[in-house]
Amino acid sequence: MHIIHSVRALQTWRRQRQGNRVLIGFVPTLGALHEGHRSLLQRARQACDLVVASIFINPLQFEPSEDLQRYPRTLRDDKTMCRQEGVDLLFVPDADELYPQDFQTIVTVQGLTTRWEGERRPQHFQGVTTIVTKLLNLLQPDRAFFGQKDYQQFLIIKQLVKDLHLGTKIIRCPTIREADGLALSSRNQFLSAGQRTRAGKLYQSLRLGARLIRQGKRHRQTIEQAMATHLAHAGAMTIEYLGVCHAQTLEPLDILEQQVILLGAIRLGSVRLIDNVAVRVPNKPLGQR
Ligand code: AMP
Repeated sequence: MHIIHSVRALQTWRRQRQGNRVLIGFVPTLGALHEGHRSLLQRARQACDLVVASIFINPLQFEPSEDLQRYPRTLRDDKTMCRQEGVDLLFVPDADELYPQDFQTIVTVQGLTTRWEGERRPQHFQGVTTIVTKLLNLLQPDRAFFGQKDYQQFLIIKQLVKDLHLGTKIIRCPTIREADGLALSSRNQFLSAGQRTRAGKLYQSLRLGARLIRQGKRHRQTIEQAMATHLAHAGAMTIEYLGVCHAQTLEPLDILEQQVILLGAIRLGSVRLIDNVAVRVPNKPLGQR
């Protein structure tokens, strides 16, 4: 595995492959790699000739209130995982080079960024879309792999690539979970034992919402209420949002259409967790077919 740090080295690597008939797959990450990231690397390995991963704790996507310094850094283990998964090139850029002192350009997707995570973390998505634009522009991969776990981010990046004609196909990969359903996240390590037990309830409440829809419930508030009640029974936590939304626009749905996404975010102490479950709304409820 080749490891590079400079933008110039990345550009050179890319130029040397210009015109080669090879498919380049890209997995951008913040590092602290876990089995969720591994699944993205494996998917890229299966689908592409060359796999490029990046590890960069992008300061632009952290809110002023969020502690960038606390973000876990495990570069040695991350390199081992990338090697194990057959990554060809690992890009670990310097922040100073990506954001020099005179850096002045921010890329913003409107619409999709306004609700849910965007409402709670107003700077976050423009930080993500700015760094993703830079990385896609530098590497020009054929495909880039993102997790369903960050569903709103996935939709925003798809929109970004479409609007700016970036030419990379954005591939969504399934969420990897612990045995109780908790989505893997580098933040899980900050949970106390009690919080960890409660954390699994987020996914369970989203699953409950999905089950109610499949059974024929069609009123958004009934479903949201049932999910909230389920979480309330789990013990101390703050529910930031629970939403029944259109799977493409993320607008709350009063009349449930074919594809629905249930979104949830909770806070346990200082740890924020997000998750989602997709549901296909049956024409007829289960049991009436
Ligand atoms: P991050 O390092 O948190 O920016 O995540 C990098 C990529 O890994 C993003 O596309 C995430 O959606 C994806 N990812 C994070 N956690 C998981 C998970 N549990 N399952 C699948 N993909 C994930």
